[in-house]
Amino acid sequence: MADVRDLRIVVIGAGMGGLGTALAFARKGFKDIRVFETASNLGFVGAGIQIPPNVVRVLSHLGCWESIAKEATIVRGTSIRGKPPAKNLV
Ligand SMILES: Cc1cc2nc3c(=O)[nH]c(=O)nc-3n(C[C@H](O)[C@H](O)[C@H](O)COP(=O)(O)OP(=O)(O)OC[C@H]3O[C@@H](n4cnc5c(N)ncnc54)[C@H](O)[C@@H]3O)c2cc1C
Repeated sequence: MADVRDLRIVVIGAGMGGLGTALAFARKGFKDIRVFETASNLGFVGAGIQIPPNVVRVLSHLGCWESIAKEATIVRGTSIRGKPPAKNLV
């Protein structure tokens, strides 16, 4: 009987969802995984990425968290600044 892990897996998009999906298939033993990305290049944009606890659990499960944690900064607090709401809003 054919092994399901011999199936070809095609993932469209190399964002977090696509790469996470590809990695999850790889961890399950799938060998033929192709990721297609329409962007001509993927580069640094100089932005910080906040990683909430539920994502840490997923990254740990995928075996990625330890190397990310070495580069990460633990944020002790945040604030969101903006205009106060208009008075007659409600
Ligand atoms: C300014 C900003 C800041 C953010 N900050 C955070 C943060 O700090 N922490 C956090 O957890 N989330 C953050 N997010 C949200 C996070 O970026 C998204 O939730 C996440 O990137 C979604 O991942 P995705 O893989 O679903 O989609 P995407 O990242 O959009 O990836 C989809 C990919 O598919 C490709 N694609 C689309 N169509 C095709 C096609 N036909 N063929 C091939 N490739 C295709 C696209 O080019 C893209 O690379 C932020 C979002 C923004 C906009």
